[in-house]
Amino acid sequence: MSKKIAILGSTGSIGVSTLKVVQKLKPSFQVVGLTANRNVKILAQQIKTFKPKLAAIMDESLVAELKSLVKVTSTKILGGEEGVIAVSGESGADMVLTAIVGAAGLKPTLTAIQKGKDIALANKETMVMAGEVVTKAAKKSGSKILPVDSEHCAVFQCLAGEPPLHEIHKVILTASGGPFRNLDQKQFHKITLKQALNHPTWRMGPKITIDSATLMNKGLEVIEAHFLFNIPFEKIDIVIHPESIVHSLVEFIDGSVLAQLGTTDMQIPIQYAMTYPARANAPVKRLDLCQTAQLNFQKPDLKKFQCVNLAYEAGKKGGTFPAVLNAANEVAVSRFLNGEIAFISIPKIIDKVLTKYRPLTNGTLDGILLADRWARAEAARVVG
Ligand code: NDP
Repeated sequence: MSKKIAILGSTGSIGVSTLKVVQKLKPSFQVVGLTANRNVKILAQQIKTFKPKLAAIMDESLVAELKSLVKVTSTKILGGEEGVIAVSGESGADMVLTAIVGAAGLKPTLTAIQKGKDIALANKETMVMAGEVVTKAAKKSGSKILPVDSEHCAVFQCLAGEPPLHEIHKVILTASGGPFRNLDQKQFHKITLKQALNHPTWRMGPKITIDSATLMNKGLEVIEAHFLFNIPFEKIDIVIHPESIVHSLVEFIDGSVLAQLGTTDMQIPIQYAMTYPARANAPVKRLDLCQTAQLNFQKPDLKKFQCVNLAYEAGKKGGTFPAVLNAANEVAVSRFLNGEIAFISIPKIIDKVLTKYRPLTNGTLDGILLADRWARAEAARVVG
């Protein structure tokens, strides 16, 4: 019998890669739900191809246009946040792959978890904002959270057999270092949007590409790893690995280090999350170690990439601080993408917002959403 999957954010980089994997795994998976923000044309095409039970477009004003483009009567088309949440919870999916970018993914992801559906988690911002709420809800409902992020997928595989925490010496997340790994910090004020969007190893959506250039992506991943694997921040390290072949490592107390390697293509971790605990044939070209020639590793320059420390600090403070970090980052990145601020203003804005933050709320979902709103308003007006 085929497994039913709903894909939230199906028109994005991860969403499109997921649908390629679905095609390759035919007939083991059936797409029952698809969602997008505004991209009616691609969503309409996907609906025609995969004929899901439900599809939703976040921007409600586009529902009529989507309906007119689709003309597939078997798919019910919905709009707005409620529509996206309905796709997550009501499409009859066994698994929900969450590839919405940013905080907008939180409620739909949580809905699926509360309904006991398995989650293939790409939307790391959900885990950063609300790690405790999300993991508690998953424990309660029995929902399995399977990481799609290549680093976390690697750690997940290295931790197979669930070794006790005291046997884990370090979780080591690899980072490509982004386009500015070798750029002198004195040149950072000149960085253009085009340069920041030119990632050396991965092709991804714009927000995560900028997060990779500031290294905030790695900071968010440290917090994600903390919640996914219940590992203290002191045991999570980052190492720069420009080739993006070793996706992450776990070092045990006896000095053994396990790593997961693979071609730099998200279809591999996406497929693993979808088929877990089984494995299916490689969806992309296999890794040829002899072609790879060299694997390099170096320490990250945390003076140059201040976002990493900001993320560790917010993560260690806990409560609603990670939600504030995430919201401030989303707003700062969007301001940079809109040409409103310089690249170097991104960490400055996040730092200012975090410094001003006085937590009035606890880490419940309402508290998190309140902190998120406060941080967004602050980050929108702070001068970097
Ligand atoms: P993209 O920007 O390419 O795609 C984002 C998707 O989310 C699109 O379908 C978009 O719809 C939809 N979306 C955007 N805003 C909203 C909103 N407010 N409400 C509902 N839907 C929305 O992002 P990526 O695919 O690159 O990344 C998705 C997530 O996966 C992120 O959290 C990222 O950190 C994570 N991730 C991505 C990796 C990658 O290689 N790309 C690797 C590891 C993790 P529309 O097309 O209509 O705008």
